[in-house]
Amino acid sequence: MPDRLPDFLDPVAFAEKNRHVRGEFALSQMDRLADALMVRQGFVTVDLQFGKDGRMSCIRGCVEASLVLQCQCCLEPLPWVVRSDVNLGVVATVDEALLLPDSIDPLLVRAGTEVSLIDIVQDELMLGIPVIPQHQDCNFSTPAIAVPERPHPFAGLAQLKIK
Ligand SMILES: [Zn+2]
Repeated sequence: MPDRLPDFLDPVAFAEKNRHVRGEFALSQMDRLADALMVRQGFVTVDLQFGKDGRMSCIRGCVEASLVLQCQCCLEPLPWVVRSDVNLGVVATVDEALLLPDSIDPLLVRAGTEVSLIDIVQDELMLGIPVIPQHQDCNFSTPAIAVPERPHPFAGLAQLKIK
């Protein structure tokens, strides 16, 4: 039985205590992800280590899930495994965020406030989902829609003219 993850946490306080957070969230809890999923059953595995990098609070680890997206070509299910490495630096202002090296993503948090762990996990998963999901070699082509051959409404007129 995996540990129950906290829904909300104070990342700075967690970093100071070097907390390690491990467990699972149900995919059905990921409301922003819902539109992208064909199947909402399943779990997201979360493994995050909080700690300090100098004065900055950091969150490192990974977020993993086996998702079922919808291929935008054939509209059939598309199994998609997301394994996102997390490397977040907790910042209080946009200016601080701009100073971070490229390898660290900013997590903007006002001092002393809690953040939603589900939101963090969702953001990481969304980064691992293609904008337009598609089977690698989906050769489904749009079926030719049978258009009944209907004479142009004025075709008859033209014929009359010729006569
Ligand atoms: Zn497809």
